[in-house]
Amino acid sequence: MKFISTRGKDFANSSQEAVLRGLARDGGLYVPQDLPKFEMGKLAGKSYAEMAAYIIGLILDDFEGEDLLEMARAAYDDRFYVKDALRLINFEDKKKTVVELFHGPTAAFKDFALTMLPRFMAGSMRGQEVIILTATSGDTGKAALEGFKDVEGTSVFVYYPTDGVSPMQKRQMMTQEGKNTHAIAIEGNFDHAQRGVKEIFSDEEMAHWAQDRGAVLSSANSINIGRLVPQVVYYIYSYEKLVEEGIIKRGDQINVSVPTGNFGDILGAYYAKTMGLPIHHLICASNENKVLTDFFRTGVYDANRDLKLTQSPSMDILVSSNLERLLYHVTGEADQVAAWMADLKEGGRFEVGQDVLSALGSIKAYHGDDESGRDLIRSVFEEEAYLLDTHTAMAWKAHEDYLEETGKGYHTLVMATASPFKFPGAVAQALGLGEDLEGEALLESLSQATKTPIPDPLRGLWQRPLTQDRLISIEDMAKAIKESF
Ligand SMILES: *Cc1c(COP(=O)(O)O)cnc(C)c1O
Repeated sequence: MKFISTRGKDFANSSQEAVLRGLARDGGLYVPQDLPKFEMGKLAGKSYAEMAAYIIGLILDDFEGEDLLEMARAAYDDRFYVKDALRLINFEDKKKTVVELFHGPTAAFKDFALTMLPRFMAGSMRGQEVIILTATSGDTGKAALEGFKDVEGTSVFVYYPTDGVSPMQKRQMMTQEGKNTHAIAIEGNFDHAQRGVKEIFSDEEMAHWAQDRGAVLSSANSINIGRLVPQVVYYIYSYEKLVEEGIIKRGDQINVSVPTGNFGDILGAYYAKTMGLPIHHLICASNENKVLTDFFRTGVYDANRDLKLTQSPSMDILVSSNLERLLYHVTGEADQVAAWMADLKEGGRFEVGQDVLSALGSIKAYHGDDESGRDLIRSVFEEEAYLLDTHTAMAWKAHEDYLEETGKGYHTLVMATASPFKFPGAVAQALGLGEDLEGEALLESLSQATKTPIPDPLRGLWQRPLTQDRLISIEDMAKAIKESF
């Protein structure tokens, strides 16, 4: 299948080409030319890895099925801590299932894609060296570093805002091992990091520098289509499990509620819907950085506002890259998308018409704030004895707001994108615990008070040596790469 750019001036002949390039050469994002339907009948009884190989193979169709299965097994059977990679927690009277996506090597959902992406790349490289560049608001970075660690023929550069990630996320990155890994703090916020990476991709000098080395620059951010495709799978897998457990009947509509930042995870749900999964509404949950909520309600995307640093830092984003893909899918008009993106770049805003807004009708957007998040973490723990992380709390809250607004009660998947132990300060505060604790002691106290186990990869972090301590200005992002070779 061809992968075409959302801005219409570039395409890749195969998914391997699209995955290796990351960003399209006209500045747009690659999307599959069409999204094939999956066959419901092929899903029953499959393991997570088998389903992943099947669904991914429909979109990344130039990979061999056997290869995909091997990659999926190596990712989901070997690197995750629970069988079939995820865990479903049903809250029956409320018609809701929390999908725990945080049982991988870095305790956040990004492991689903980043345990696969290096394997896609290794399968596509044909002798070239790949230099991976990634901007992160916290979780992508660590997942990319882990995913690419010591993968031959690759090196990975992760840029994170020095004050814009949680202490746990920072610790995870600063203790990263691996000869080919570089975790670099920048003096700026996530949007600066993301813009800096995009600029490196369109910088001719860097292109020549890479060419001289026989290397390609690519991205592990969700601008890379190889990041998105594995994220389609868990929606379909969760649905199938609900059918198996008799909670829904095959064909029943469900809703999904997704804590959203760069719009990658929820776009996976949109792809699942387009491919045939009966999703009624996609509930897009934001924190106080509610650009998306405003956009889906008014048609105006306006990034001209201050970025707020919240207790759900992985959603602290004002320029939500994958919205561009959605706009392309619903309009099919690359020139129009390119014009909106030019407006966004120049004036920080763009506006779509009523027709486009109606075409986006399957998406319902809500937002919460730190205080409502903490209230919810406390009340859900008191009522259900279940511990939510700060991002998942936004999705749970958005679902409640949705119910209040629409009164419609489809069974809903609430996507739990991180372990509560990744954001222990805010979670403990919500429960009125551990005021004066930090580090390992805070994790232990939270775990004991809530009878919730600490995920293995988060144990012992404070005993590990700090191996990555570079802090640079945003102007020096390109230089930092060259200096490392
Ligand atoms: C990245 C992340 C999100 C946002 O996901 P997007 O794909 O960027 O929308 C939400 N929660 C957590 C914990 C994350 O790491």
